[in-house]
Formats: sequence, C-alpha cells, structure tokens
Amino acid sequence: MNYSLIPVSRNRKLGPMPTATSSRATCPESCPLRGNGGCYAEHGPMSLVWSRVDRGDSGGDFDTFVKEVEQLPRRQMWRYGQAGDLPGKGDEIDREQLLRLAKANRGRPVIAFTHKPATQANLESLHMARDLGFTVNLSANNVHHADELVEHGLNVVVVLPSNYERLPSETMTEYRARLNQLPKNTPAGHRIAVCPATYTDTTCLQCGVCATVEKRPAIIGFPAHGTKKKQVSAMAREDSPVPAG
Ligand code: SF4
Repeated sequence: MNYSLIPVSRNRKLGPMPTATSSRATCPESCPLRGNGGCYAEHGPMSLVWSRVDRGDSGGDFDTFVKEVEQLPRRQMWRYGQAGDLPGKGDEIDREQLLRLAKANRGRPVIAFTHKPATQANLESLHMARDLGFTVNLSANNVHHADELVEHGLNVVVVLPSNYERLPSETMTEYRARLNQLPKNTPAGHRIAVCPATYTDTTCLQCGVCATVEKRPAIIGFPAHGTKKKQVSAMAREDSPVPAG
C-alpha cells in the first residue's frame, strides 16, 4: 500500500497544511459510502489524486511516509487521509504501523478520521495511538451510530442530513435561525456541533477542533452535500438503519 504526503494542501476547507492520502486498499469493506456514489473521494479531482497514489505515481511506501511525517515542523497541524483510511487492509487497523506513525508524529496536531469498524482490536489500537498523542475521530453514519461510537471513549464525527447544510441563498442569520429549529443533540443527548468550514470561510487550520486529543464536549457534524447528497443524506437521516460495523 502507498502513502503520499503533500507539503501544502490547496483544499479550501483544509487550509495550507500538509496532507496525506493512502491507497484505496486501506478503506474498509464495511464503509457504507464506498462504491455507491456517496464517497466524495471516489469522484472528481480527488479520485485522480487517489489513483496516482494507488499506482505508485505519487508518494511511496509506509516507511518513506513515516520518515516524511517525522520531518514535519515540530508543531505543524496536518491532515491524515484526505482519501483512504488508516494503515491496514480493509476493515483492520495495522496496529504496528499505526503506532509507528503515532510515534513518528510526536504529538503534532493531526486531523484524522476512520470508517474502519469499531472492533475490539481496532479500538485498542486507536486508544494506544491516542495515548501517544495521535487522535483519530470515529466516523459515524448517522446520529444513532454516533451514540454507539461515543461509548468507546474516542472523539466522534457524524454525517448529518442535508437540511443541516447552509443554502447558498441563506444569510448567516437565516441559516442560524433555521439551524436552531433542528435537533442539536443525538438521541442519547450528546451535543452536535456543525463543522464551521461547511458554513463559513473557516479552515481546519484555523479551527483545529478535530485534532483535539482530549475528549471533546461535542460530536462534530458534517451535513451531506455535493452531487451525491441524496444518497448520503438518506444514510444520515435519523430514521435510517445503522449500517453494520
Ligand atoms: S470542525 Fe474544524 S477541524 Fe473539524 S473538519 Fe470542521 S473546520 Fe476542520
């Protein structure tokens, strides 16, 4: 499997930070967004970047990647996995590689998410990485799933239905007023905070909340958006079944 680390992302939402991509083979078979049009990285320019990493035209092997991470500036925030998931094939996390990555990172703030299932082995690996300062957010498919994942003691993010998205025609005041009418908590009562990069010009570099190592008081929500938002929103609707894993 290959990994690429570009020094400066041109992604408007991320801001100018180093950004890593990992091979498609790292993605879990159980991801409900995979292959059904719901994964943003499977389409458009990102899919071309991803294919270059898969073919080995960009980046290199894991050892090379770890060395590149070691050489990042001491307090540099960076994004792991703009496409692709944590080291390990499919549903499994390669513990040895994740911990090597965590040690090489030496506490730099990292924005990372995983769709790999919350198996006991994966959770143990994620807790060990977190204890080394490498925090990975568990990605939930809807608020019910988020309530399950939050019980594992790690930070959680969730896909929200598209009605949480700010419309292009809405002023901030109008959006906030509409948002106030929507549920602000999961069914189990955990607070949801909508990612500010989805409705303002804020970047991850400015916000950094997803890089929080300590337990965060809120689950970060990402409204379904883009050309495939109908499929993604259906998955995120509260009455939708929680996909396995
Ligand atoms: S909440 Fe902040 S750090 Fe997380 S994705 Fe949104 S802008 Fe980036």
